[in-house]
Amino acid sequence: MAVPAKRLVALVATLVALSELALWPAVAASHPVAQEVLVKKYQERILKDEEEFVRSGTREDVPLLSDSEAGLALDQPQQVHIALAGPNKMRVTWLTPGGGTPSAVDFGVASGEYTRRAEGESLTYSYLGWRSGHIHHVVLGTDEEPLEDDRVYYYRCGGSGPELSFKTPPPAGPDTPVTYSVIGDLGQTGWSVTTLDHMAASPHDVVILAGDLSYADRYQPRWDSWGRLIQRLAATRPWMVVEGNHEIENVWGLEPEFKAYNARWRMPHNESKSPSNLFYSFEVGGVHWLMLGSYADFGPDSDQYRWLQEDLASVDRARTPWLIAVLHAPWYNSNTAHQREGDAMMAAIEPLLYGARVDLLFAGHVHAYERATRVYKGKPDPCGIMHITIGDGGNREGLASRYLDPQPDWSVRREASFGHGELRILNATSASWTWHRNQDDNAVIADDLEITSLSDPANGATCSAAAAPPGGQKLGRKEKLVVLAAQ
Ligand code: FE
Ligand code: MN
Repeated sequence: MAVPAKRLVALVATLVALSELALWPAVAASHPVAQEVLVKKYQERILKDEEEFVRSGTREDVPLLSDSEAGLALDQPQQVHIALAGPNKMRVTWLTPGGGTPSAVDFGVASGEYTRRAEGESLTYSYLGWRSGHIHHVVLGTDEEPLEDDRVYYYRCGGSGPELSFKTPPPAGPDTPVTYSVIGDLGQTGWSVTTLDHMAASPHDVVILAGDLSYADRYQPRWDSWGRLIQRLAATRPWMVVEGNHEIENVWGLEPEFKAYNARWRMPHNESKSPSNLFYSFEVGGVHWLMLGSYADFGPDSDQYRWLQEDLASVDRARTPWLIAVLHAPWYNSNTAHQREGDAMMAAIEPLLYGARVDLLFAGHVHAYERATRVYKGKPDPCGIMHITIGDGGNREGLASRYLDPQPDWSVRREASFGHGELRILNATSASWTWHRNQDDNAVIADDLEITSLSDPANGATCSAAAAPPGGQKLGRKEKLVVLAAQ
């Protein structure tokens, strides 16, 4: 297959940048400031490739506080976030700058009364000579003693940290109402703060983040500042995330892909029989969520493809009538930014998801909002997946505001504004989707829609008959690398 000239140029530029990087003595990067210089040099090359996109409405990163500036002691827990870890279990993750504090969480259902203690593990990682703090992972709830549904738990990390609290999601069941806050490409700018403020003002049970988290972009202290920024929400409700291209952070020959992401954001892949933290599934209420990896292999011979087939085979629409996918690089995108970057994955995976009658697919990557109708193989299809791009969290790269003209017939609504979405599952068949623009008061709804599940017998009559045979076209490792280099 011929490689487009533009992608080849991007690949060569990346290779040159990386070969320069490899010459830098890693020891020079042991200090955060030295690391920043090193990383900036690399980023300048990357940004040149992105200049073709018109970005607007950029806001600066909120002040990047070091531990000392933030007044945080070596043993004080920080960056607390939680994620579902299988039915009625919650993984609590936090960081202490220093070692020596226990990887333990004390918790209970009454404030100040910690009737239980869960223990876990801690790890550190190095990146171009920089060393992370101690990252603690502890799972609350066991098979014998699971957490209760829809219950507030009070907890403290490390044996002595300040009291925090979270609420577990509502119980499993096809008709359970559950509210999700859906975001993408969040970053840590003034716009990100507005998005977080709006999310905080709307009650939700679970947060879904479709990739591109901190925009650390290899400068590791920015992972820490992002962790501190989101704690006020991420310590109170589970944040279920997938990786975006900004999580890759590899430096060829020196650092592997997803080093910080995998160390800091552990998703329930073991719990969902996935071999990789880059793709997994989980269930809440009546929804089976497929969290897919745009930057993990996805061809028919890949681990992800095989896992997805098995995971889909385990779905019982009587138990979870809703089937929803999340990934980073959109398949249906009429913005000029990141145009066609999801094509290879779509070719490989779309028939599988269409055959399984997936209801919705959330993507990020494009820094704007777009909602498509139900669609399959490029054409509106009443049995197809409804695609929503929600990459408008507010990161430092700004908005992507140029669109293809004419608007494709599958594209219903598109707008380059920052914001967040809310998905309210009302029962087994009905849900409501609203999109909230940051410029407006949170109560203003910029887009809204009632959605009926394909598991609804009314839809089933037309859609259940001819499930598409699973299959797709093969994508070689070489093609995948070219796609990555063009990010
Ligand atoms: Fe992004
Ligand atoms: Mn992206």
